[in-house]
Amino acid sequence: MMATVNGLADDVSNLNLNQTGEGSMQHETKKHRRPNRIYHNFEMAGPSFDRHSPSSSQQSTPLMQQSQIPYSTPLSNDNPYHQAGTSANGLGINGLSINTLTLSAPQPTTTHFVSAQRLESQQTMLRRTFMTSIDSVPPLSTTQYYAEDQGTADPRLMSLSMYNVPNDEHLRAATKLPVGVTVQPFAKLIPVDSIPIADATADSDGPMRCRRCRSYVNSRYQFTFDSKMICNLCHIKSNVPVKQVSPLGLNGLRADAYERPELLKGAVDFLVPSSYNISRENAPVPLHYVFLLDISAFANENKSSLAAIEGIRTSIEYMVENQPNCKVAIIAFDEWIRFFNIRADLEQTQEHIINDPKDIFLPINKGLFALPSEAMHVIQDVLVKLETYITDERFLHRSQSCYGSALEAAKLALEAATDNQGGKIIACLNTLPTTGRGNLSLMRDDGLKKHLRCEDEFYKKLAHDFLKSWIGIDLFVTSTAYIDLAITSYPVIATSGHLHHYSNFNINKDEFKFVNDILGSVKCTVGYQGMLKVRCSSGLSVYNYYSESVKNTDEDPVIPVLTRDQKFDVLFKYDDTLKVGEDICFQAALLYTDIDGVRKVRAINTNAAVNSNVIEVFKFINQDVVSSIMIKDVLATLEDCNFNEIRKNIDRKIIEIFTQYRALCGGSSGGQLILPDSLKTLPMYMLAFEKSELMKQNKSSSRGNERFYDYYKLLFYGASQLSYKLYPQIIPLHDSLNEDDLSFYDDKMQLLQFNNIETLSVRSSHRQLINGGCYLIFQGESCFLWMNENTNLMLIRDLLSYEGPINQLDIFGGRLPDLDTDINIKARNVIKNWSQIINIDYLPVVPLRPNVDPYYSHVMNQLMVEDKSIELVESFDNYLIALHHDIKENIKNDKYIKIGKSAEDGHENFAQKFVHF
Ligand SMILES: [Zn+2]
Repeated sequence: MMATVNGLADDVSNLNLNQTGEGSMQHETKKHRRPNRIYHNFEMAGPSFDRHSPSSSQQSTPLMQQSQIPYSTPLSNDNPYHQAGTSANGLGINGLSINTLTLSAPQPTTTHFVSAQRLESQQTMLRRTFMTSIDSVPPLSTTQYYAEDQGTADPRLMSLSMYNVPNDEHLRAATKLPVGVTVQPFAKLIPVDSIPIADATADSDGPMRCRRCRSYVNSRYQFTFDSKMICNLCHIKSNVPVKQVSPLGLNGLRADAYERPELLKGAVDFLVPSSYNISRENAPVPLHYVFLLDISAFANENKSSLAAIEGIRTSIEYMVENQPNCKVAIIAFDEWIRFFNIRADLEQTQEHIINDPKDIFLPINKGLFALPSEAMHVIQDVLVKLETYITDERFLHRSQSCYGSALEAAKLALEAATDNQGGKIIACLNTLPTTGRGNLSLMRDDGLKKHLRCEDEFYKKLAHDFLKSWIGIDLFVTSTAYIDLAITSYPVIATSGHLHHYSNFNINKDEFKFVNDILGSVKCTVGYQGMLKVRCSSGLSVYNYYSESVKNTDEDPVIPVLTRDQKFDVLFKYDDTLKVGEDICFQAALLYTDIDGVRKVRAINTNAAVNSNVIEVFKFINQDVVSSIMIKDVLATLEDCNFNEIRKNIDRKIIEIFTQYRALCGGSSGGQLILPDSLKTLPMYMLAFEKSELMKQNKSSSRGNERFYDYYKLLFYGASQLSYKLYPQIIPLHDSLNEDDLSFYDDKMQLLQFNNIETLSVRSSHRQLINGGCYLIFQGESCFLWMNENTNLMLIRDLLSYEGPINQLDIFGGRLPDLDTDINIKARNVIKNWSQIINIDYLPVVPLRPNVDPYYSHVMNQLMVEDKSIELVESFDNYLIALHHDIKENIKNDKYIKIGKSAEDGHENFAQKFVHF
């Protein structure tokens, strides 16, 4: 697509983005409303309790329908600006007779520029609550909003790529879009802690479940007077377990409906009986942590080992207050492995050293793990001893590292202490492992090796063993040199852990972030022993889970340790034609043990309508999920990393999607480029993906640290963080802002206001930054403060309490000072808001000054994604022109899938799955 575009000038004059398209697309007010679903249509029918299959009638079986019941007090009361008119109270328990609902939903944004779209989306969600039974396509992942679970889950927990699902594969193929779902089971919600607990331990069989598909009871299960229940996914009737039978009232509701959140809410945590434990013999235990510390010579030299100790100390202190049941162990390694006995009754620690790292065993049986609240004095003793060794005993330092053996030691320790129940390893690594098991001393940064796969049998097996033993690992890498992350971090990738890499680690620059990241690794942990399963209505089934733990297959992913930011993308395939007019339901069930050792199932339910009209399908697309699945699909099929070819394939996919839209929905609108409202920033995000560090050509290094770390981020970042990573947000601080701009709107300080959207949204392009300006730029990890020698010194003084030349300015500790000036407060609000959106407590502020900061051009090249890249990937404007050109060519040459033909006619496309670009 990026071939030379002839007639550029012509195209430019014709380029007029018309997001609303033509004809039926112009009815703004109808957009994004929840597609009509059956339970919105039913009448108050007479009792028909022996109706087996709701699918037999469009009228469904309303008396058994439970999804409309408000659960206790409406949660939206937390939002002072909540509009009563859309409250669940409006539906009420007698809401069963509702025929049509006046729906309110996010207004579509008007721009195809990412920066402005985000602010617009946020602005529209200030005054309303997302009502999950009424609203359909969720706001952007970067938008903060209040939501009320009305029997369908908050979309932050689970959201679909389409809310009008095509009724068959032929129509799906004609959209060129995936039917998929993103599940982030522990996403941060607003209001917080709004997931109720359903105690299902009274019956040894646990929660009510369908006898055929094993789905968990939810608000759309139907109950009959003869003590049966009908599954909303497969429509099979099962007996209600004797202990869980409840009489039905005349209105068809279970008498205990109000005591059972699982019948009212879209997301619920079931407490489950011991039959759900991973081991028959042993009851679950609270989570055990192992801190694994690299104290080899280079780690001590750059002081990363000292910073890590500070991180461990901070984390353990945090645990005393917040995770009081969790136990910890500390193991250090260089060429040897050091274990510490931290039994609470000791006065000081006893150290045990293994000096043959090829032969790993546990030198002590008891005392490796302890509760921080009981053994803090011994733990402090370990940390102080290690600090002394690092700072005062340099002549003893050993340069080699036995990382592989150390991981095995941590695994043995966890297995022994928990009877094979697993736990979490937080490891620091500074040096390529060159001794012991998993020795990589022969590994060089081999330019001939193009792929990013782990080909080392030791680490592959170790990752496999971790999965089997429910052990997860987070890894903090502080090496500047090549460390073959594709291999050394493979156990992290396989166990869905966190990877942090600090290139050019510098204690002054990085310590604060490093310590906070280690603490973050503890803070974000919510449980372990996780296994995910997504079920859906008959007709669709899981094609694959994008998870390395199951090698991207349809097997249920194993997630040894669960964190708040983990996100799982799932792709579906068609087994059958879906019935138009019937809802299609999805349920994600995550079986896990919380950090206190309580076994639970988090069940998350959502649903969509089925439609055979392609225009209606395109109206209800959720771009965040579409782009996430497209990116995952590319990452899953990188093979030999031929990035030129991969870029072409992505371009081709984009052209196909918009050709289909133009041909099937866009009418004949002459020379204009028409992007569907629901997908209008997709080209920009995918172009940014093409410009990512991952896809940079590098003749000498194909597996360098930077490339692999970028690969990791693309694979694992949650939806909002990924959005910022692909397209940074820039907020100008030098413009005159009104009082409300960049201030919090709600009393919980979650929603930031942007009244002056035109001024406040700056596109990520060099041309958009003005000489003398001052900007905050966020790319998902750090906030950059851009300024140059002409930036107003008064502004700098009010912002940073600094007076002097800009090139000598330092932002100590990576934080803005707390001042009570207007601009300082606004800037801190912006950073606080970003950190809330991505749910990471600490975002460092890094100065970004032309001709001053050595990293300036490198960082700017990554940030300014609308510009032509140094690798000559096109600018955004030219990309759209070429896109428009190629769409017109396709239409002219009749190169698109037509609908209305029989499946045989379209066989070639029918068989073509979305996957495999
Ligand atoms: Zn079922």
